Amino acid sequence: MRLLVASNNAKKTLELERILADAGINGLEVLPLASVPEYPEPVEDGRTFADNALIKARAGAAHSGLPTVADDSGLVVEELGGMPGVLSARWSGTHGDDAANNRLLLAQMAHVPDSRRAASFVSVCALVTPDGQEFVTEGRWEGTLLREPAGEGGFGYDPLFQPEGEARSSAQMSPAEKNAVSHRGRALAQLVPHLAQLVR
Ligand code: IMP
Repeated sequence: MRLLVASNNAKKTLELERILADAGINGLEVLPLASVPEYPEPVEDGRTFADNALIKARAGAAHSGLPTVADDSGLVVEELGGMPGVLSARWSGTHGDDAANNRLLLAQMAHVPDSRRAASFVSVCALVTPDGQEFVTEGRWEGTLLREPAGEGGFGYDPLFQPEGEARSSAQMSPAEKNAVSHRGRALAQLVPHLAQLVR
C-alpha cells in the first residue's frame, strides 16, 4: 500500500522509512509530495501543532486518495507561555530566517535566569486515511535554552537547545544521534501501530 508523507523534506520520508523498517512493517511504500499530482498547499493557520498537522494530512489524503502522514513542530519555551510554538519558523516575522529567529529569542530571554530557561522541541504527527480515520501523536524533547549559539549542525533553533542530560547543543549532535532521541522520532514511533493496521 502507498503512504503519502505531506512534505518535500526528503529527510522526513527517510526517517519514516527507517522507523517502519525497524518495526518490521513491510508493504508500505512511502511517497514524498513530489510523487503525487500537485495540489494547492493548504494554509497552516491552526492555533496548535495538532491543528496544523491535521490541516496538512487532511489535504494530502483528500487530494491524493492515499493515507497521509504530516507533522508540525516547533520550540516551546515555558517562560514565553509556550511560544514560539506554532510560530517557530516565522518568530522574527520572516518565514524560515533561522538566524533572525534565534537572535530575537535570545534577546527576549536575555534577562531570564538559568532556573527558568526550560524549553522543549515538540512534534505532532497526524495520520489521515481517505475514509476519514484520524490519528494524532506527540513527541517531546526536553531541555534548556542556551545563552548563545553553539554548534554548526542541525537547523532552526538547534544551536540554542541543550537537551536534558547532554553537555552539548542539539546542533553539536550527529543526525543519527539526534534522530534516535528527538521529538520527531518519538512522535513518528507512536504512529507505528496505526500504520501497521493499514497493511494488516
Ligand atoms: P516544521 O514543522 O518542520 O515546519 O518546523 C517548524 C520550525 O520549528 C522550524 O522552522 C524550526 O524553527 C523549528 N524546529 C522544529 N524542529 C526542530 C529541530 O529539530 N531543530 C531545530 N528547530 C526545529
